Amino acid sequence: MQPGTYTVDVYISNMADQVLAEARQVILVDSSVEFTKISYEDGNVTLTAQAKYICGDPEYQFWYKDSEGWKCPGDFDYNTRNTVSFEATAGQTYEVVVYAKDQNAARHWKQAAVACGSIAALEDNPKEPTAFIPGEPLDQNEMRITFMGTSVVPRRGQQCNSVFVETGNGDSFIFDMGSGVSANYVAMGIPYSRMDKVFLTHLHGDHMSDLTTLYCFGPSLDRKTPLRLFGPSGDTADDGTMAFAEALKQLTKWHVESFCFTSTGLKNGKSGYDIEVKELPYMEVGGIAYNENGVKITHFPAVHDRDGSISYKLEWNGLSMVFSGDTKPNYFMTNQAKGVDVLVHEMVVPPEVWAAKNSGLKPGDPGWQQAINYTTAVQDSSHTTQKAFGYILSQTNPRLGVATHFQVNDDTVGPAMKDIRTWYQGPVTLAKDLLVINVSKDNIRQRYAEVSDYAWYPAPKLYPPDQLAPPKYPSPLDQLNNELLEQVIPASAYE
Ligand SMILES: [Zn+2]
Ligand SMILES: [Zn+2]
Repeated sequence: MQPGTYTVDVYISNMADQVLAEARQVILVDSSVEFTKISYEDGNVTLTAQAKYICGDPEYQFWYKDSEGWKCPGDFDYNTRNTVSFEATAGQTYEVVVYAKDQNAARHWKQAAVACGSIAALEDNPKEPTAFIPGEPLDQNEMRITFMGTSVVPRRGQQCNSVFVETGNGDSFIFDMGSGVSANYVAMGIPYSRMDKVFLTHLHGDHMSDLTTLYCFGPSLDRKTPLRLFGPSGDTADDGTMAFAEALKQLTKWHVESFCFTSTGLKNGKSGYDIEVKELPYMEVGGIAYNENGVKITHFPAVHDRDGSISYKLEWNGLSMVFSGDTKPNYFMTNQAKGVDVLVHEMVVPPEVWAAKNSGLKPGDPGWQQAINYTTAVQDSSHTTQKAFGYILSQTNPRLGVATHFQVNDDTVGPAMKDIRTWYQGPVTLAKDLLVINVSKDNIRQRYAEVSDYAWYPAPKLYPPDQLAPPKYPSPLDQLNNELLEQVIPASAYE
């Protein structure tokens, strides 16, 4: 089914084809709405939104929040206009929300799509309205940060954690590779040859699960060079990234062998299925993980659940980015991230929200105490609250603060922004998947990418055939025994 508006009918008839009862409902599939322009001029904020996959004329409803609370700048009800203005004071922060729905959809339709944003510092220049289209060249002086996954819970709209960083010198880096993010890398047109350096913050599944996909399928496509894996040490050797990489090789042995009917490496003797691990002492502050072609990546400890988690800082061309991984708020971070251009930091919903969403229970229900005990324990051992994230920003003052690892919902964004704003009034974004941030010395531009939900792998990097190592198995049938081959129905029987 393609995204769009569908009218569904159901009839009950008797044997004589007489309709006894019927019902009709309009449903919206994969609809969404985004702000396409937010500008401030002559004392007015103008909001423009665009709904997607709402067939027919979409109807919009806008809201903004000032010091007195939420207000509707247009008509209170839904309206087909997609632009509204309201009087605003320069320097004030307004949270803005837009809802969209199909005119034909019943008024009581509850799942109107929502987008939220916040204008941190109103200026007289409108924000860039256009979406990011994959394949856009990167300026040689810019850095680009793409959020491929932004959640703890694997969800359709938000995969688990991964950030892809590109530098204008042509290099690219992956920070964490949580479950589900491979689909977003494909949708963004990133070939495996550009996914050859992975920096893990820690070894939780929501940060490393899709490394299996990256490792398994890279060499049969266009990553013919070893996977370079960077990650923390543990308190013992079998707790660290080195042991993890060995285990990954064992886990994927059958897959790797099966794909060795094709060339998986170059003639220099190295295979795409080799893993070159650089294990980083997890207690080191400012230790160098990577230092090539002008890109320096250092690491420092994170405080998360168990010894052996780290955060990273990337510096290139006078630009910088810090990626926290999972962590409780800590002083390593406030020291290392001071004045960074972009601080990407984890944040979680309050334990009571997490417990309610996870369990469907409410305070007083049987099982509630158990649910809240669990989420409180997770938060206390491992994570950064909304207020703590605001505090970290107030101590580091990045040009842009980005919260990730956070479930973005209609009812989580507002309270989170409120908590953050108790400490910090500068530019803040709560990341959803496919947020693209271009960073240059004088501008930080944020856009969401428009991609296909049904993308194929992007065009691979091509190697001259004489550089490729010969496959281990000359024929794709070499790994099947005769008994299996004898049972294969010949093509002549059905073609
Ligand atoms: Zn974790
Ligand atoms: Zn996590």
